[in-house]
Amino acid sequence: MRVLGGNEEITLTGPANISRRRGVWSIRGHDLSHAMASTNDLEVRADTALTVSDEKGRTYKGFIRCVADTDPPRADFSVINVVDMNEYIPGVLAGELYEGWHDATFEAQAIAARSYAAYECEHRKSRSWDVLDTPASQVYVGIPTWKQAGRCAKATEGLVLTWKGDIIPGYFSSCCGGRAATAEDAVGPNPINKIPPLRGHGGIAKCVDAPKYRWSDGWDADRVGRAIRAWGRRSGQKDVASLGTIKSIRPTDPNKHGRPTHLDIIARNTTVTIRCVDLPGVFSEANLKMLSSGWVGGDVFKGKITMNGRGFGHGVGLCQYGAESMASHGSASRKIIKFYYPDVNITQAW
Ligand SMILES: [Zn+2]
Repeated sequence: MRVLGGNEEITLTGPANISRRRGVWSIRGHDLSHAMASTNDLEVRADTALTVSDEKGRTYKGFIRCVADTDPPRADFSVINVVDMNEYIPGVLAGELYEGWHDATFEAQAIAARSYAAYECEHRKSRSWDVLDTPASQVYVGIPTWKQAGRCAKATEGLVLTWKGDIIPGYFSSCCGGRAATAEDAVGPNPINKIPPLRGHGGIAKCVDAPKYRWSDGWDADRVGRAIRAWGRRSGQKDVASLGTIKSIRPTDPNKHGRPTHLDIIARNTTVTIRCVDLPGVFSEANLKMLSSGWVGGDVFKGKITMNGRGFGHGVGLCQYGAESMASHGSASRKIIKFYYPDVNITQAW
């Protein structure tokens, strides 16, 4: 294994134990030159795949960059896997889907995920990385431990979603609850999110057999109230910050597919309206049990709010459970893609 930085290079046998303190790199057991210790960027390369010994313990193709976090300094450094798109996509399929689902589902997911990543690569500005390996972007597990992911990535190699010649972000979620969100409502008001392929599918629900198609779950009502007020304070919404004891939550303001876009939070003193898309984040920031979707409604009874919800995730674009249902009824990946991204083109980009 080689570690490169500041125009210097050292060769190691065995693992490289890299740390960074007060702007200086160190590698256990090695004296680094000043140029190497004080650079912002180390590269770790090897002739074989690299295993990163964090809590995930995953193995990666390509190489690893360790980049100092300078602005803002969230941690000492970021660990970035620099990897070819063809070797990245199998690790997304293995992170996002279940082994044994139909190949057509994997192929549709590969086209969506490749488009999402390619779009992020094209539009990255000041960050040192393109995508996270979590659901905040799309889950990526490095080299998959099973073969279907690699095979289905290969079968769709270079295929991306385009609109008027441009690659578009292939948003997807686990289960749309039967009615799609639009990217404009659920992701943001960028012009790209207003194009027809990202306005959501029509037609009948395909994901009715998904475990989270409809769900019901309970939370302590006081804690939910505190979480919503704290978010109101953080985001400068005075009416939300001063919300009284919550009585109920009601979905409202449906989009053209019939999926609500907002929630009325009905409290003893007032009613405030928030966006559906904000509520799961409010729950996670307050360390409450995960809220699977912002499409919810519920009432408080004896200090507990019981929520009835639909779907899992933001509900924009491809619905993974719906795709698997279509595949199990014989649909090919292109048909699945055309259903979830109306009027989109599938283009061979490389
Ligand atoms: Zn769905």
